[in-house]
Amino acid sequence: MKVKVPFFNYPALFKVKEKEIMDTLHDVMSRGAYILQRDLEEFEEKIKELIGVKHVLGVADGTNALMLCLRAAGVGHGDEVILTSHTYIATAASVHFVGATPVLVECGVDHMIDPKSVESAITDKTRVIMPTQLNGRTCDMDALQAIADKHGPVIIEDAAQALSSMYKGKCAGTFGLAGTFSFYPAKLLGCFGDGGAVVTNDDNMAKRVALLRDHGRNEEGVVVTWGTNCRLDNIQAAILNLKLKTFDKDIARRREIASIYHQAFKGIADLTLPPAPDENERHFDVYQNYEIESGHRDDLRDFLEEHGVRTIIQWAGNAVHQFKGLGFDNIKLPVTEKMTSRFFMLPMHTALSDEDVGYVCDCVKDFYSTDYTD
Ligand SMILES: *Cc1c(COP(=O)(O)O)cnc(C)c1O
Repeated sequence: MKVKVPFFNYPALFKVKEKEIMDTLHDVMSRGAYILQRDLEEFEEKIKELIGVKHVLGVADGTNALMLCLRAAGVGHGDEVILTSHTYIATAASVHFVGATPVLVECGVDHMIDPKSVESAITDKTRVIMPTQLNGRTCDMDALQAIADKHGPVIIEDAAQALSSMYKGKCAGTFGLAGTFSFYPAKLLGCFGDGGAVVTNDDNMAKRVALLRDHGRNEEGVVVTWGTNCRLDNIQAAILNLKLKTFDKDIARRREIASIYHQAFKGIADLTLPPAPDENERHFDVYQNYEIESGHRDDLRDFLEEHGVRTIIQWAGNAVHQFKGLGFDNIKLPVTEKMTSRFFMLPMHTALSDEDVGYVCDCVKDFYSTDYTD
């Protein structure tokens, strides 16, 4: 059947702002402003304001943002970094590529890193706890901070999926020594290519990341340390400035869609849903993804596909430790493994109409009203 509700809709997100986007590109190119220019500075100021943080540095992408943070924090050979196995490979890869060892732990029922599992993984080599603020939700940062305070490591947040998500009124990315964001096109705030940012309240971290992202050059262009090229393109920053104008509205819409899904599915015992938008006053979730679990996942996905509803299984169905060839063969994480046999994501983006959302709800309900257990 032809696709009725795509999982994501890149062309629609261009169409809705086509004229403003083309005007923006025209303006930037007419000025010849490509690298470390005004639009990037404006963007960094806007993100500071949005999430309440002292320093923002636009960088090439979310993966490099993580690597720069780890390098700036002096993490390398012999160090261990604890992260959840239910994350994008980039979280673990950033640790690997600074020469440190990624230590993978369990997630909890809300799919976020499990603090108990973090605490049992602490060794005298642990330098960093790196929680992923997954699917638009922020972890229980009080619990993680308490573990960090007790044992000594710092927190560096992978907040790629959680721009403006909050825990107890504080934004993802601003809890630890530093945090990172991705502006990959399908992220909450997406550019037209790759983009990322490092955020921090620590002056020294900001200074080091600024040097690392631009060949180790200071403001006079003098090389004062080893660095690399890892800058956010000014043209992407200009696009992001434009998109930020509707960001609050976009987040409100995502929360509304999550609410509609929740109402429709909460009575279906076979499904495990993400927390509803107003379920817990400590959390303000922004629904980068709507990730659910089903005891009949593959049949349900087939049924939805037959009815033109596209769904996706995050990470191709694997937690990081389940990818063969990465050296995690001896690691067993039963909670995460059960979750990865059941999880998948429904369409969640701002180009969905109420009709689209209603259609997805009806299809899921239809599936469960037939005798799916045969
Ligand atoms: C998208 C993402 C990244 C990496 O971002 P890129 O900009 O694609 O490099 C890292 N971690 C998580 C959890 C992500 O979802």
